[in-house]
Amino acid sequence: MLSARNAKPPGNIADGTGCELSKTMRSNRRNIGHFGVLYGIALSILLMAAIVLPRSASEVLGQRRPSRSGILTSHSRDRFSREAREMVEVASETVCNERVRDPKGSVPIDDMQARPSLPVDSPEAVAGAQRAQRLLPLAERLVVASLKQLSRDYNLNRTRGYDLKIQRAVARVEAVRDVRPDVDSRDNASVLMKNPRTIIFGTIFLAGLPSDEGIISVLSHELVHIADGSQDNLKLLFRAVGNRASVLMDLKIRDQRAEELTCDMVGTLATRSYVSATPTYEALPQRISRSLEHNCVDTDEGDEDHLSPRDTIRAILFLKPALTRELVYGR
Ligand SMILES: [Zn+2]
Repeated sequence: MLSARNAKPPGNIADGTGCELSKTMRSNRRNIGHFGVLYGIALSILLMAAIVLPRSASEVLGQRRPSRSGILTSHSRDRFSREAREMVEVASETVCNERVRDPKGSVPIDDMQARPSLPVDSPEAVAGAQRAQRLLPLAERLVVASLKQLSRDYNLNRTRGYDLKIQRAVARVEAVRDVRPDVDSRDNASVLMKNPRTIIFGTIFLAGLPSDEGIISVLSHELVHIADGSQDNLKLLFRAVGNRASVLMDLKIRDQRAEELTCDMVGTLATRSYVSATPTYEALPQRISRSLEHNCVDTDEGDEDHLSPRDTIRAILFLKPALTRELVYGR
């Protein structure tokens, strides 16, 4: 589905949020249970160290301080990199631990993929479809705000012609009207370029995201694909996000991978705004985690068009240190 979107022939299928990832997982399932436990212990120790050691969050998370001479040594750079990575690992583990504890936790996409098809009239699919339809107008507003904010963050709003592209993108987002539950789409969500007013949502996917936060994250992902459309309205933004993530992750994140990552990042940012706008008694890390925890897979494999699910979590946390802090410190 995604490879078809890459070429963008007329009327093609535009996207599958979880589909391509699931497809690659099918071939190579493996059990990493013991590794997971040891890893959890190691990360708990790191978390303790992060809290106990007399080190400021800004130091840990990236605002490198020059030495007295004003020169950043390679040593301080290495330390920044190592500590930022440790912090991202702790935050990423928090996301997946929250998922396990949360009654509204999302189902990981590899788990969804293994489930039998779910009829449209099953209570979970009906509840999910109603939730998605109810939240669609709000998700549209949050996506528009996030796209504008990201454009400012990456200084794209000063680029010639960019304003017009953003206006087109916003109009496309605001024109989306429906969520259509679909049995055959299973654990995928998608949009058709010939019908950009409807988001198609697999019933397994709807049922696997039992929180508002989880649904907003996936709706937002699809809305960003719609915003980009056949005119590549968001190409510069995708490139900027991909380039930044490539440096931080030391991975090649270009073209479709950059687009998918940006869709996921907007999903998380939109959810974060939703959490601020709708306070509840639930803990902040629990609510933020719902935007990412469908990526807490056992079999962590990416493909040409996607980072692996767990690398997707890491990339977003690298790109948004404030979010990482909130997950680790709970505020
Ligand atoms: Zn996508």
